[in-house]
Amino acid sequence: MYRLLIIVGLLVMFYFLLRSAIREFRDSKGQSQALDAKNLLVQDPVCRMYVERDSAVAASIGGQTYYFCSRDCAQTFQKQLAG
Ligand SMILES: [Zn+2]
Repeated sequence: MYRLLIIVGLLVMFYFLLRSAIREFRDSKGQSQALDAKNLLVQDPVCRMYVERDSAVAASIGGQTYYFCSRDCAQTFQKQLAG
């Protein structure tokens, strides 16, 4: 009789472990997809073009980092801020 209770207890524990493992797997998958999409494309604030972050021109202005499609756009943005 005790053995049956132990087996049922183990099964219930196993079920909850499996369920939380699946949930964690799904969560991490969703998060990484969202991160990928965020890292891949950035918007140029000057010409509104989307550029890949790896190939974008990064400029740190006023403690914030902006990404541009080209140095021209970065310079235009800095001029806009100045004037
Ligand atoms: Zn641009």
